[in-house]
Amino acid sequence: MAKVIFYEERCKGCRLCTTVCPKKIVEMDTDKLNLKGFHPAGVRDMDMCTGCAFCATICPDCAIEVER
Ligand code: SF4
Ligand code: SF4
Repeated sequence: MAKVIFYEERCKGCRLCTTVCPKKIVEMDTDKLNLKGFHPAGVRDMDMCTGCAFCATICPDCAIEVER
């Protein structure tokens, strides 16, 4: 099973990763704020992740890493 790691302090809340996930499981975590003042992105249901890494590829801030 794939594992998606988010480096939350790098996230600038641009939401690009939420737009490319084919499973629609990447969401902004509105319960958290990073030091830059943004709600960081995260995965809602890791079991649904296919490991395609689209989210990691599109992130301009290298805040996402996918382990397969
Ligand atoms: S690796 Fe693919 S399926 Fe998994 S969260 Fe990222 S975009 Fe979605
Ligand atoms: S693409 Fe990167 S910087 Fe933008 S919301 Fe997603 S994790 Fe944060």
